[in-house]
Amino acid sequence: MAVPRNRTSNARKNSRRAHHAKKPRLFAKCSNCEKPCLPHRMCTQCGFYDGAAVVHAKEE
Ligand SMILES: [Zn+2]
Repeated sequence: MAVPRNRTSNARKNSRRAHHAKKPRLFAKCSNCEKPCLPHRMCTQCGFYDGAAVVHAKEE
C-alpha cells in the first residue's frame, strides 16, 4: 500500500478543506400555497405536486 512520503502541511490541509463547508438547504416555492418546499418533492403544507393534489392535506 502506498504511504505518503511527506507530512501534509497545515496550510495545504486547510486549503483542501476550504470547500468542505456545508451549503444552505435549497428551497423552492410551492406553486399552490407559495410556502417554501423542497424541489422535486410534494409540498408538505398542501400536498400538491406539479399543479395537482397528490395527497389531500390532513383536516384539522
Ligand atoms: Zn403547497
